[in-house]
Amino acid sequence: MAKSKQKEISLKREGTLFVISAPSGTGKTTICRKLLKKHDTLKLSVSYTTRPPRKGEKSGIDYTFVTKEKFKKMIDRGEFAEWAMVYGNFYGTAVKRLKQLNKAGYDIILDIDTRGAMQLKNTYDNAVYVFILPPSMQTLKDRLISRKTETADIVKKRLESAREEISFYGKYDYIIINDILKYSCQELESIILATKTRIANTDQKLINKLLK
Ligand code: ADP
Ligand code: 5GP
Repeated sequence: MAKSKQKEISLKREGTLFVISAPSGTGKTTICRKLLKKHDTLKLSVSYTTRPPRKGEKSGIDYTFVTKEKFKKMIDRGEFAEWAMVYGNFYGTAVKRLKQLNKAGYDIILDIDTRGAMQLKNTYDNAVYVFILPPSMQTLKDRLISRKTETADIVKKRLESAREEISFYGKYDYIIINDILKYSCQELESIILATKTRIANTDQKLINKLLK
């Protein structure tokens, strides 16, 4: 289907939330970025964080980087749909951003940790929950090290948290094992496309027209 036509049809309904979690270094950012490039009906929920930007990261694109004071004020004002302290920094999803994207009909990818995902389960029961696993702990370690974005100490911390993160896998709807990147992207894309065709996500106006 041509990209523009697909957009036209898709934007007539409310978007779906795709909540994606994985131990750090598994490859979720890589997979999500590839799909975001390919589908203009899909948008990333840009989180707020107090972690310092990595080389090349831009505020408002990868994250919105804020101070702890600002983040805490946002918590107090109830501005987050979910938030968590992950590896010593705050991360959170702003309700306002979700609402804006959802109203415009976009499907939204949320790249968030398991505790944040569990908070969303209480309020967004129509969301689709996807867990990504590394093929082995050794591969996870290799990927975290080869990314060269964290110090050895932080890599250690992230690896120590991986088992706890993985223990949540049963709460998710789908599991992807990110071994060969190409196949992992295809699997996530299939989940997204299949969700579009759910009865609950059908464009009711079109059905009404057809039944007239
Ligand atoms: P996450 O967002 O889950 O923390 P990233 O997407 O940053 O992980 O990926 C961690 C590292 O692993 C990156 O250097 C990325 O290029 C690499 N990577 C991701 N998926 C694969 C894969 N299937 N095979 C090999 N390397 C991968
Ligand atoms: P990183 O620092 O590697 O970008 O992300 C660290 C962890 O924080 C990842 O597991 C990522 O999914 C998670 N994360 C990113 N944004 C959010 C968010 O808005 N909320 C929660 N709960 N976790 C997030």
